[in-house]
Amino acid sequence: MLRGVATVDVKLDLSPQNLLDVIGGYDAVIVRSATKIDAEVIDNAPRLKVIGRAGTGFDNIDVDAATRKGILVVNAPESNTLAAAEHTMALLLAMARNIPVANASLKAGRWERSLFVGVELHGKTLGVLGLGRIGTLVAQRAAAFGMRLLAYDPYVSRNRAAQLGIELVETVDQICQQSDFISVHLPKTSETKAMLGAQQFSLMRPGVRIVNVARGGLIDEVALADALQTGKVAGAALDVFDQEPPDPGPMFDNEAVVVTPHLGA
Ligand code: NAD
Repeated sequence: MLRGVATVDVKLDLSPQNLLDVIGGYDAVIVRSATKIDAEVIDNAPRLKVIGRAGTGFDNIDVDAATRKGILVVNAPESNTLAAAEHTMALLLAMARNIPVANASLKAGRWERSLFVGVELHGKTLGVLGLGRIGTLVAQRAAAFGMRLLAYDPYVSRNRAAQLGIELVETVDQICQQSDFISVHLPKTSETKAMLGAQQFSLMRPGVRIVNVARGGLIDEVALADALQTGKVAGAALDVFDQEPPDPGPMFDNEAVVVTPHLGA
Protein backbone atom coordinates (compact mmCIF):
# COMPACT_ATOMS: atom_id res chain seq x y z
CA MET A 1 0.00 0.00 0.00
CA LEU A 2 2.81 2.41 0.89
CA ARG A 3 4.30 1.74 -2.54
CA GLY A 4 1.38 3.64 -4.07
CA VAL A 5 2.39 6.88 -2.35
CA ALA A 6 6.13 6.65 -1.68
CA THR A 7 9.37 5.04 -2.73
CA VAL A 8 9.78 2.04 -0.46
CA ASP A 9 13.05 0.17 0.06
CA VAL A 10 12.93 -3.10 1.98
CA LYS A 11 16.28 -3.70 3.67
CA LEU A 12 16.29 -6.78 5.85
CA ASP A 13 19.26 -7.86 8.01
CA LEU A 14 21.04 -4.48 7.96
CA SER A 15 23.99 -4.38 10.36
CA PRO A 16 23.99 -1.44 12.83
CA GLN A 17 26.77 0.17 10.74
CA ASN A 18 24.80 -0.32 7.47
CA LEU A 19 21.78 1.28 9.12
CA LEU A 20 23.88 4.30 10.18
CA ASP A 21 25.21 4.56 6.62
CA VAL A 22 21.81 4.56 4.87
CA ILE A 23 19.36 6.15 7.32
CA GLY A 24 20.23 9.70 6.21
CA GLY A 25 18.40 9.12 2.93
CA TYR A 26 14.99 8.37 4.44
CA ASP A 27 11.94 10.38 5.57
CA ALA A 28 10.37 7.44 7.38
CA VAL A 29 11.50 4.09 8.73
CA ILE A 30 9.49 1.05 9.80
CA VAL A 31 11.13 -1.49 12.11
CA ARG A 32 10.18 -4.59 14.04
CA SER A 33 11.75 -5.44 17.40
CA ALA A 34 15.28 -6.40 16.33
CA THR A 35 16.43 -3.12 14.75
CA LYS A 36 17.67 -0.52 17.25
CA ILE A 37 16.84 3.09 16.44
CA ASP A 38 19.03 4.74 19.06
CA ALA A 39 20.22 8.34 19.49
CA GLU A 40 23.18 7.76 17.15
CA VAL A 41 20.91 6.53 14.35
CA ILE A 42 18.56 9.47 14.93
CA ASP A 43 21.50 11.92 14.83
CA ASN A 44 22.42 10.47 11.42
CA ALA A 45 18.88 10.92 10.05
CA PRO A 46 18.36 14.60 9.25
CA ARG A 47 15.35 13.90 6.99
CA LEU A 48 13.55 11.50 9.31
CA LYS A 49 9.99 12.53 10.27
CA VAL A 50 8.41 9.31 11.52
CA ILE A 51 9.54 6.01 13.02
CA GLY A 52 6.98 3.24 12.69
CA ARG A 53 7.21 0.25 15.00
CA ALA A 54 5.38 -2.69 13.43
CA GLY A 55 4.41 -4.25 16.76
CA THR A 56 4.02 -3.29 20.40
CA GLY A 57 7.10 -2.40 22.47
CA PHE A 58 9.19 0.76 21.97
CA ASP A 59 12.20 -0.58 23.83
CA ASN A 60 14.32 -0.72 20.65
CA ILE A 61 13.63 2.96 19.89
CA ASP A 62 15.07 5.96 21.75
CA VAL A 63 11.75 7.80 21.97
CA ASP A 64 13.27 10.74 23.93
CA ALA A 65 15.97 11.31 21.30
CA ALA A 66 13.33 11.13 18.53
CA THR A 67 11.02 13.53 20.37
CA ARG A 68 13.87 16.04 20.85
CA LYS A 69 14.26 16.10 17.06
CA GLY A 70 10.51 16.39 16.45
CA ILE A 71 10.33 12.86 14.99
CA LEU A 72 7.02 11.08 15.52
CA VAL A 73 7.20 7.53 16.92
CA VAL A 74 4.15 5.35 16.25
CA ASN A 75 3.41 1.69 16.97
CA ALA A 76 0.75 -0.91 16.24
CA PRO A 77 -0.11 -2.11 19.74
CA GLU A 78 -3.00 -4.39 18.81
CA SER A 79 -1.28 -6.00 15.84
CA ASN A 80 0.07 -9.12 17.52
CA THR A 81 -1.77 -9.21 20.84
CA LEU A 82 -3.77 -12.36 20.09
CA ALA A 83 -0.79 -14.13 18.56
CA ALA A 84 1.31 -13.38 21.65
CA ALA A 85 -1.47 -14.55 24.01
CA GLU A 86 -2.00 -17.77 22.05
CA HIS A 87 1.75 -18.37 21.88
CA THR A 88 1.91 -17.96 25.66
CA MET A 89 -0.79 -20.62 26.08
CA ALA A 90 1.02 -22.87 23.59
CA LEU A 91 4.25 -22.60 25.59
CA LEU A 92 2.47 -22.99 28.93
CA LEU A 93 0.82 -26.21 27.75
CA ALA A 94 3.90 -27.50 25.91
CA MET A 95 5.92 -27.04 29.11
CA ALA A 96 3.26 -28.54 31.41
CA ARG A 97 2.73 -31.59 29.16
CA ASN A 98 6.45 -32.08 28.22
CA ILE A 99 5.49 -31.94 24.53
CA PRO A 100 8.82 -30.92 22.93
CA VAL A 101 10.92 -33.53 24.72
CA ALA A 102 8.31 -36.30 24.31
CA ASN A 103 8.02 -35.45 20.62
CA ALA A 104 11.81 -35.64 20.17
CA SER A 105 12.00 -38.92 22.09
CA LEU A 106 9.25 -40.67 20.11
CA LYS A 107 10.65 -39.46 16.79
CA ALA A 108 14.01 -40.88 17.88
CA GLY A 109 12.29 -44.27 18.13
CA ARG A 110 11.71 -44.45 21.90
CA TRP A 111 8.42 -45.08 23.76
CA GLU A 112 9.05 -43.49 27.17
CA ARG A 113 5.59 -42.79 28.61
CA SER A 114 6.55 -42.68 32.28
CA LEU A 115 9.37 -40.19 31.72
CA PHE A 116 7.10 -37.49 30.38
CA VAL A 117 4.16 -37.43 32.77
CA GLY A 118 2.89 -33.85 32.74
CA VAL A 119 1.27 -31.57 35.28
CA GLU A 120 -2.31 -30.26 35.07
CA LEU A 121 -3.09 -26.57 34.84
CA HIS A 122 -6.48 -27.14 36.49
CA GLY A 123 -6.53 -25.98 40.09
CA LYS A 124 -3.06 -24.39 39.84
CA THR A 125 -2.37 -20.70 40.43
CA LEU A 126 -1.15 -18.57 37.55
CA GLY A 127 0.60 -15.33 38.52
CA VAL A 128 0.49 -12.72 35.75
CA LEU A 129 3.03 -9.88 35.84
CA GLY A 130 1.55 -7.01 33.81
CA LEU A 131 -2.22 -7.12 33.28
CA GLY A 132 -2.34 -5.22 30.00
CA ARG A 133 -3.63 -6.39 26.63
CA ILE A 134 -1.73 -9.69 26.45
CA GLY A 135 -1.73 -10.43 30.19
CA THR A 136 -5.51 -10.08 30.22
CA LEU A 137 -6.03 -12.38 27.21
CA VAL A 138 -3.74 -14.97 28.80
CA ALA A 139 -5.60 -14.74 32.12
CA GLN A 140 -8.95 -15.22 30.36
CA ARG A 141 -7.66 -18.29 28.54
CA ALA A 142 -6.06 -19.72 31.69
CA ALA A 143 -9.40 -19.27 33.51
CA ALA A 144 -10.95 -21.60 30.92
CA PHE A 145 -8.39 -24.21 32.02
CA GLY A 146 -9.60 -23.90 35.63
CA MET A 147 -6.60 -21.96 36.91
CA ARG A 148 -6.75 -19.55 39.86
CA LEU A 149 -5.55 -16.14 38.69
CA LEU A 150 -3.35 -13.60 40.42
CA ALA A 151 -1.92 -10.47 38.85
CA TYR A 152 0.54 -7.75 39.77
CA ASP A 153 0.06 -4.46 37.93
CA PRO A 154 0.05 -1.22 39.93
CA TYR A 155 -1.56 0.62 37.02
CA VAL A 156 -4.71 -1.52 36.89
CA SER A 157 -7.66 -1.07 39.25
CA ARG A 158 -8.75 -3.81 41.63
CA ASN A 159 -12.31 -3.51 40.23
CA ARG A 160 -11.16 -4.05 36.66
CA ALA A 161 -9.22 -7.16 37.74
CA ALA A 162 -12.14 -8.45 39.84
CA GLN A 163 -14.48 -8.12 36.83
CA LEU A 164 -12.10 -10.45 34.99
CA GLY A 165 -12.04 -12.89 37.92
CA ILE A 166 -8.43 -12.01 38.75
CA GLU A 167 -7.10 -11.24 42.23
CA LEU A 168 -4.83 -8.21 42.05
CA VAL A 169 -1.91 -8.36 44.51
CA GLU A 170 0.22 -5.48 45.76
CA THR A 171 3.71 -6.84 45.23
CA VAL A 172 5.77 -9.01 42.93
CA ASP A 173 6.77 -11.00 46.02
CA GLN A 174 3.14 -12.09 46.52
CA ILE A 175 3.08 -13.42 42.95
CA CYS A 176 6.32 -15.30 43.66
CA GLN A 177 5.08 -16.77 46.94
CA GLN A 178 1.65 -17.89 45.73
CA SER A 179 2.02 -19.01 42.10
CA ASP A 180 2.57 -22.42 40.52
CA PHE A 181 3.06 -20.79 37.11
CA ILE A 182 4.26 -17.24 36.47
CA SER A 183 3.77 -15.52 33.10
CA VAL A 184 5.43 -12.20 32.32
CA HIS A 185 3.57 -9.61 30.20
CA LEU A 186 5.36 -6.37 31.06
CA PRO A 187 6.87 -3.71 28.85
CA LYS A 188 10.66 -3.52 29.18
CA THR A 189 11.47 -0.35 31.12
CA SER A 190 14.01 0.64 33.79
CA GLU A 191 11.32 -0.32 36.36
CA THR A 192 10.62 -3.78 34.98
CA LYS A 193 14.12 -4.90 33.93
CA ALA A 194 15.10 -8.06 35.86
CA MET A 195 11.83 -7.93 37.81
CA LEU A 196 12.38 -11.63 38.42
CA GLY A 197 15.90 -12.03 39.81
CA ALA A 198 17.66 -14.22 42.40
CA GLN A 199 15.77 -12.62 45.30
CA GLN A 200 12.38 -13.32 43.68
CA PHE A 201 13.33 -16.90 42.72
CA SER A 202 14.26 -17.53 46.36
CA LEU A 203 10.68 -16.63 47.37
CA MET A 204 8.99 -18.87 44.80
CA ARG A 205 7.28 -22.18 45.47
CA PRO A 206 9.50 -25.18 44.73
CA GLY A 207 8.52 -26.56 41.33
CA VAL A 208 7.25 -23.25 39.93
CA ARG A 209 7.15 -22.92 36.13
CA ILE A 210 7.93 -19.65 34.32
CA VAL A 211 6.83 -18.29 30.93
CA ASN A 212 8.20 -15.22 29.16
CA VAL A 213 6.66 -14.16 25.85
CA ALA A 214 7.17 -10.45 26.63
CA ARG A 215 10.78 -9.25 26.45
CA GLY A 216 14.21 -10.66 27.22
CA GLY A 217 15.76 -9.09 30.32
CA LEU A 218 12.51 -8.95 32.32
CA ILE A 219 13.80 -12.15 33.90
CA ASP A 220 17.44 -12.31 34.99
CA GLU A 221 18.62 -15.20 32.79
CA VAL A 222 21.54 -16.14 35.07
CA ALA A 223 19.25 -16.29 38.12
CA LEU A 224 16.74 -18.37 36.13
CA ALA A 225 19.45 -20.78 34.98
CA ASP A 226 20.60 -21.17 38.62
CA ALA A 227 17.03 -21.76 39.83
CA LEU A 228 16.54 -24.42 37.14
CA GLN A 229 19.84 -26.01 38.10
CA THR A 230 18.84 -26.32 41.77
CA GLY A 231 15.37 -27.60 40.82
CA LYS A 232 13.61 -24.65 42.48
CA VAL A 233 12.16 -23.87 39.06
CA ALA A 234 10.74 -27.02 37.43
CA GLY A 235 10.35 -25.54 33.95
CA ALA A 236 10.71 -22.45 31.85
CA ALA A 237 9.23 -21.52 28.48
CA LEU A 238 10.93 -18.63 26.76
CA ASP A 239 10.14 -16.86 23.50
CA VAL A 240 12.37 -13.84 24.16
CA PHE A 241 15.95 -13.42 25.33
CA ASP A 242 18.40 -10.82 26.65
CA GLN A 243 20.25 -11.08 23.40
CA GLU A 244 18.54 -12.29 20.23
CA PRO A 245 19.54 -14.66 18.81
CA PRO A 246 20.69 -15.97 22.23
CA ASP A 247 23.95 -17.75 22.98
CA PRO A 248 22.94 -21.37 23.59
CA GLY A 249 23.99 -21.60 27.25
CA PRO A 250 23.27 -24.34 29.82
CA MET A 251 19.54 -23.57 29.73
CA PHE A 252 19.36 -24.89 26.19
CA ASP A 253 20.65 -28.29 27.33
CA ASN A 254 17.98 -28.47 30.03
CA GLU A 255 15.00 -30.61 28.95
CA ALA A 256 12.74 -28.61 31.26
CA VAL A 257 13.30 -25.50 29.16
CA VAL A 258 11.13 -24.93 26.08
CA VAL A 259 12.30 -22.21 23.72
CA THR A 260 11.01 -20.53 20.56
CA PRO A 261 12.74 -17.83 18.49
CA HIS A 262 10.57 -14.76 19.30
CA LEU A 263 7.49 -16.20 17.59
CA GLY A 264 4.89 -14.40 19.73
CA ALA A 265 4.56 -11.72 17.10
P1 NAD B 1 0.42 -3.48 27.50
O1 NAD B 1 1.04 -2.13 27.53
O2 NAD B 1 -1.00 -3.63 27.05
O3 NAD B 1 0.51 -4.15 28.96
C1 NAD B 1 1.62 -4.02 29.80
C2 NAD B 1 1.09 -3.94 31.23
O4 NAD B 1 2.22 -3.86 32.10
C3 NAD B 1 0.23 -2.69 31.50
O5 NAD B 1 -1.03 -3.05 32.04
C4 NAD B 1 1.05 -1.89 32.50
O6 NAD B 1 0.24 -1.23 33.47
C5 NAD B 1 1.90 -2.97 33.14
N1 NAD B 1 3.10 -2.43 33.76
C6 NAD B 1 3.91 -1.43 33.31
N2 NAD B 1 4.90 -1.22 34.19
C7 NAD B 1 4.71 -2.09 35.20
C8 NAD B 1 5.41 -2.34 36.41
N3 NAD B 1 6.51 -1.65 36.73
N4 NAD B 1 4.95 -3.31 37.21
C9 NAD B 1 3.83 -4.04 36.90
N5 NAD B 1 3.11 -3.81 35.77
C10 NAD B 1 3.55 -2.86 34.93
O7 NAD B 1 1.40 -4.39 26.63
P2 NAD B 1 1.03 -5.74 25.86
O8 NAD B 1 0.58 -5.41 24.48
O9 NAD B 1 0.19 -6.60 26.73
O10 NAD B 1 2.50 -6.37 25.71
C11 NAD B 1 3.16 -6.97 26.83
C12 NAD B 1 4.58 -7.33 26.46
O11 NAD B 1 4.58 -8.32 25.43
C13 NAD B 1 5.43 -6.16 25.92
O12 NAD B 1 6.74 -6.27 26.44
C14 NAD B 1 5.46 -6.42 24.42
O13 NAD B 1 6.59 -5.83 23.81
C15 NAD B 1 5.53 -7.93 24.43
N6 NAD B 1 5.16 -8.59 23.17
C16 NAD B 1 5.93 -9.66 22.76
C17 NAD B 1 5.61 -10.33 21.60
C18 NAD B 1 6.45 -11.48 21.14
O14 NAD B 1 6.62 -11.66 19.95
N7 NAD B 1 6.96 -12.34 22.01
C19 NAD B 1 4.47 -9.94 20.85
C20 NAD B 1 3.70 -8.88 21.31
C21 NAD B 1 4.06 -8.21 22.48
